[in-house]
Amino acid sequence: MRRKEFLELAGLALAGSLTPARRAAAALASAGAAGGCRVDAKIYEVRLKHAWTLSRGSWTTRRNVLVRIEKNGVFGLGESAPIVRYNESAESGLAFIEKAKPVLQKDLRAFHDLWNEIDALAPGEHAAKAALDMAVLDWVGKSLGVPLHRFLGLGGDKDLVTTFSIGIDEVKIMQDKIKEAADFAVYKIKVGTDDDRKILEGIRAVTDNPLRVDANEGWKTKEKALDMIRWMAGMGVEIMEQPMPADRLEDIAWLKERSPIPIFADESLMMAADLPRIAGAFHGVNVKLMKCGGIQEAIRIAAMARALGLTLMLGCMIETSIGISAGAAVAPLFDYLDLDGNVLITNDPFRGVRTEKGRLILNDRPGLGIEGEF
Ligand code: MG
Repeated sequence: MRRKEFLELAGLALAGSLTPARRAAAALASAGAAGGCRVDAKIYEVRLKHAWTLSRGSWTTRRNVLVRIEKNGVFGLGESAPIVRYNESAESGLAFIEKAKPVLQKDLRAFHDLWNEIDALAPGEHAAKAALDMAVLDWVGKSLGVPLHRFLGLGGDKDLVTTFSIGIDEVKIMQDKIKEAADFAVYKIKVGTDDDRKILEGIRAVTDNPLRVDANEGWKTKEKALDMIRWMAGMGVEIMEQPMPADRLEDIAWLKERSPIPIFADESLMMAADLPRIAGAFHGVNVKLMKCGGIQEAIRIAAMARALGLTLMLGCMIETSIGISAGAAVAPLFDYLDLDGNVLITNDPFRGVRTEKGRLILNDRPGLGIEGEF
């Protein structure tokens, strides 16, 4: 993107905003375009309050990667929460970030082109790509002096209600988790086990709140899945996520025709390019920055999914406030939110978007609005 085009874009994003922000835009425009970007990355082990168990595995810690870029005295932060299902690890993410360093020496203001170049470096590694996208957009927002959500034309006064996720555990512990999170208005319950009825009955014994469930591909036949979905709808479950394995689209389409509640894709969707193939099998899609490769791709998915008539959910992995704040910056584009990764951990070194009574409160600090550094 040329400087003039960027200034026009910045001017659009800032229309009606204050003079200091315009001054910041001018400062950004006069900043040196190429070179001089320092990139640091390190592995950060996040600790979970409770063991995190899904239908495919269990964890008490997760190894994420934190990224910091600095140029012209402004720094940007990003986070990668690698997804094992897609063969990602903290180490493979670090290696990818190393590989991307030369691209980050280009003009950071041209973040569309930058992301395309980073994406083309290697297949996969979407979580590491997301970290770099976050860091660049944090840097751009800070350089302009505007919160990223404002830069993107989002925010307003939309009520950003998030679910609180309850991982699979003994029923008594799942009940305790609900009691610990009594502030939240909606819960997302992990199912896809042989004990799903017992789990749902146990949850219902301690809360009347709406429930959403996520089977994480756990049910292997469409008949079993339909039986469970019908039963769960009667238990006040309002959304069903990924009932069957990602590639069983014919079976999931069969379920969609019969299900009394909307069925959402999670594992069946990574990027916007997947949408045409899967759209017929689902009512909605769960988008995650770590899964798709960052904020820019999440926006592309949101636009395309809307055009295809799909409902939109924004989810997350187990992340610190960096990743969750990056998600929150685009949260107003989505119908349903599941942005609770940072409240499931005990050692979040950062503060960003706040969660109050199950609602996300965006702040007016520039970029991702993160306090704390590394
Ligand atoms: Mg899911």
